[in-house]
Amino acid sequence: MQDVVVIGGGVMGASVAFWLTRLSPGLRVTVLEADPTHARSCTALSVASIRQQFTTAVNVRLSRFGVAFIRDFGGATGLGPAAGDLGLRENGYLFLAGSAEAAAVMAEVAAMQRALGAGTEILTAAAVAARYPWLETADVASASFGPRDEGWFDNMGLLSGLRRAAQAQGAEFRTARATGFAMQGGEVAGVRLADGAVLSCGAAVVAAGTAAARVAGWAGLALPVEPRKRTVFVIDAPNARHPDAPLLIDHRGYYLRPEGRHWICATVPADDGPCDPDDWSPDLHLFEDAIWPALYARAPGFDAVKVIRHWVGHYDYNALDQNAFLGPHPAVRNLHFLCGFSGHGLQHAPGAGRGVAEHLLTGGWRSLDLSELSLARLVEGRAFRERAVV
Ligand SMILES: Cc1cc2nc3c(=O)[nH]c(=O)nc-3n(C[C@H](O)[C@H](O)[C@H](O)COP(=O)(O)OP(=O)(O)OC[C@H]3O[C@@H](n4cnc5c(N)ncnc54)[C@H](O)[C@@H]3O)c2cc1C
Repeated sequence: MQDVVVIGGGVMGASVAFWLTRLSPGLRVTVLEADPTHARSCTALSVASIRQQFTTAVNVRLSRFGVAFIRDFGGATGLGPAAGDLGLRENGYLFLAGSAEAAAVMAEVAAMQRALGAGTEILTAAAVAARYPWLETADVASASFGPRDEGWFDNMGLLSGLRRAAQAQGAEFRTARATGFAMQGGEVAGVRLADGAVLSCGAAVVAAGTAAARVAGWAGLALPVEPRKRTVFVIDAPNARHPDAPLLIDHRGYYLRPEGRHWICATVPADDGPCDPDDWSPDLHLFEDAIWPALYARAPGFDAVKVIRHWVGHYDYNALDQNAFLGPHPAVRNLHFLCGFSGHGLQHAPGAGRGVAEHLLTGGWRSLDLSELSLARLVEGRAFRERAVV
């Protein structure tokens, strides 16, 4: 195998570089990152949570691998204690269902998750109230809860540990902006850099987050991955101190989780759609108009609330079906993708990076069958929808 160039040094670029150099010692892997501060990368702006509760089995499998990797980060990366602790807090996710139809779907997917090793429990409204007496449950038809393997962790610790481990195995991380491909015979022969240089390669990996569609365009490929703006609020609620709270996904349309003494919350804007990649202005009205009324109705302890901080991140949104695109493009066989995670990529980075590396090195899916996430569905116009997108 000739040299591999990875475009994007966020968690996906670092993960695929880690796996490529682990599985193929001596392989020359260069990761290009335009902004090593990661100020606007999805990885840095993430809410950094992990769950087993997905509606597609492949995503549950990726999360099963992800949580094991995060829990034993030093062992998994080979860095040992130097990897540091990713601070996994397993408070669980609590999904609320507001109708009998939603509850039926919840029960069906919980059975699938359990069959794959997840601990998902279905709770009645009374059981939710008993476990979390600070929640109002009159409108809750049922709930699903993950008592283990779900919670939140250190996003930048995951990125920097993967990068350090990849570097220790020989990967090179270079501050440089890729600007195009040198194509030869329908394949990528090199990656053009902003300074005019061309890095020749045997394969390239697109791990460019929300810029993935632009990068795909350099090879004449269309990819429905677009940036979608999310405003995240950090709030103080002095009358609501519940450090054992789960990550709550309320059917009233927001999510909430504790963050130290404070809380993090966000919602999907009613007019959600692709945003200008340069639009980083927060939609502050969303807290007052959408989140706070629903939150107060759910938990009266949130009567006195102060927004103490907010930030904007762009979801790496796959408009086709809210699932990742992994592996080679059928039309350009040595151009591999690792993008479109639609807001749940951080937790899947260890497994997705491994899968793409294995496919690139061996021509097939190995440790996990990730074929449902391959780009064949894009070419065939077939959606493979993940319904648990928050
Ligand atoms: C608000 C928010 C909350 C989220 N919450 C969660 C969560 O709770 N759990 C979870 O699992 N996931 C979550 N996610 C999603 C997760 O963060 C992403 O799926 C994941 O980080 C994607 O990683 P990436 O490496 O593909 O993208 P990025 O981290 O964006 O990295 C891509 C990198 O590519 C670089 N790049 C782009 N173009 C070029 C170029 N031409 N040349 C060189 N470099 C280039 C960029 O500078 C960038 O650093 C959330 C995302 C957001 C925005």
